[in-house]
Amino acid sequence: MGIVEGKVAIVTGGTRGIGFTIVREFLKNGAKVALAGSRQETVDAALAKLAEEGFTDNVMGIAPALTDPDSVAAAFASVVDRFGRLDVLCNNAGVSSRTPLVDYTLEEFNKVMSINVTAVFVCTQAAARIMIEQGEGGAIVNTSSMVGKYGQPSGVGYPTSKFAVNGLTRSLARELGRDNIRVNAVAPGVTRTDMVANLPEDMVKRICAPIPLQRMGEPQEVANAFLFLASDLASYVTGEILSVDGAAQT
Ligand code: NAD
Repeated sequence: MGIVEGKVAIVTGGTRGIGFTIVREFLKNGAKVALAGSRQETVDAALAKLAEEGFTDNVMGIAPALTDPDSVAAAFASVVDRFGRLDVLCNNAGVSSRTPLVDYTLEEFNKVMSINVTAVFVCTQAAARIMIEQGEGGAIVNTSSMVGKYGQPSGVGYPTSKFAVNGLTRSLARELGRDNIRVNAVAPGVTRTDMVANLPEDMVKRICAPIPLQRMGEPQEVANAFLFLASDLASYVTGEILSVDGAAQT
């Protein structure tokens, strides 16, 4: 029996990278999963890839506009229609940028804040409404980053957004505790996904050199933390920001 057996989970940004690995890991461990992507084509492609791996019955795709409450509420309702309930929300969708401050446009800043913070608020509110009505608690797992602890020397919107994710996590853990809805975050370090695939090799070496474990993290290692925090193994863990970063300090 898997550690999230029978639970129903929604994973935003579930079409690739860390999110796709979370989806696969939850399916392997007995959950029913709705993966959310920004476009129907990428959602369909992710579902096709999962079907090739034998995951067909317990997975569905949704493509709501994550910052639009009506769109998110309708998509989450379709998950409850299909799977009967909702137990877990993984707020994983995110965008990054490394533009220096003097060149940073307001448009870019707003885009990062909108998907990394506003979408987390909108999706968490929609999920919490469903969970509170069900009356059986639930788990929200957000995606922070090691830069939500240390900042980042360029692209100020990204670390700012992850500090905000930490604030949402700790605050909502306090607000939703009485409904037995646990709210935690995973803070990955440099993880091998599309987000870092385009970095030059010498930059990757420089990034990895000061990491005590001397390497990047794998999406699987980050997904393991989501699995733990979503599961009943973490039934007394809430308001926690779990670093999965090889003890990186930069
Ligand atoms: P990725 O770029 O491979 O995946 C990002 C996901 O977010 C994609 O599925 C994408 O479709 C989704 N997304 C982006 N914009 C969206 C939008 N407007 N609407 C809906 N979905 C949207 O990146 P990843 O590395 O897998 O990142 C996943 C999460 O992990 C992000 O929150 C990121 O900040 C965080 N993170 C990543 C690293 C890393 O090194 N890869 C480190 C720390 C934190």
